[in-house]
Amino acid sequence: MVTVAELSTKEQPTWCPGCGDFTILSTLKNALSELQINTDNTVIVSGIGCGSKTPHFVNTYGFEGLHGRLLPVATGVKLANHKLTVIGIGGDGDGYGIGGNHFIRTMRRNLDMTYIIQNNAVYGLTKGQYSPTSEKGFKTPSSPHGALEDPLNPVALALTAGATFIARGNAMDIMHLKQLFKEAIRHRGFSLVDVFQPCTTYNKIQSAVWYKQNTYKVEEDKSYNPEDKAAAFAKAYEWSPKIPLGVLYKVDYPCYEDGLPQIKDTPLVHQPIGNIDIAPLMEKYK
Ligand code: SF4
Ligand code: MG
Repeated sequence: MVTVAELSTKEQPTWCPGCGDFTILSTLKNALSELQINTDNTVIVSGIGCGSKTPHFVNTYGFEGLHGRLLPVATGVKLANHKLTVIGIGGDGDGYGIGGNHFIRTMRRNLDMTYIIQNNAVYGLTKGQYSPTSEKGFKTPSSPHGALEDPLNPVALALTAGATFIARGNAMDIMHLKQLFKEAIRHRGFSLVDVFQPCTTYNKIQSAVWYKQNTYKVEEDKSYNPEDKAAAFAKAYEWSPKIPLGVLYKVDYPCYEDGLPQIKDTPLVHQPIGNIDIAPLMEKYK
């Protein structure tokens, strides 16, 4: 039994009071505990951002990479050992902006991994610039006249690019979010969980109250079938009067790993490397 306490490290987050990163972190640990994941076989990969510190606080393997580059690292981890549970976590600026191209490519491959986006519609760590998911007209210190672009639609983009599990959650609705995390991690294929989260310092509009007032759970619509891609596209564009949360799309589809006969029986990391002497290389990068 891996408990939440065992999944915690000695490091303490220094996020602003009320930041949604706190609840996403605790919800992730609760989900991992309930899934009884093997901490030795789990890797959490992040990029750069406030929430990208998450791997420091979860007692699994972790890797904090470069800004926007968590998916290439996660891909490398997965292909080196496809038996691992791989979870990427990072912000909207990191994933949808700086790492936007990786976001598309990785979903096309349908690698078996989970990607959690801490979506607060602003760049928090770099002091509040508008991000790809900021509303048009959103004013920041670096855009005093408001964002000029329309926001990116991550769910529609994920549907187009080939993600096989797409969900949207609210950082402040932890029981619902925990179910989404568990289902996303269990899903075999690329799972995206876009999580609305308040940034109490730089986004004074999309607050915890705003998210509560402007969202509903798609499960409330009993006729909704998340396996219907056309219906999922319609949900992706639903923004007014309320935004749908929950599992918006899911489908069984072969993973990228399934097309690699080289790793069918044995993960790459466990295969012999023959007579190649890697010692000089290891020495060089020591
Ligand atoms: Fe959280 Fe925003 Fe503070 Fe960053 S700046 S820790 S996202 S509240
Ligand atoms: Mg952000």
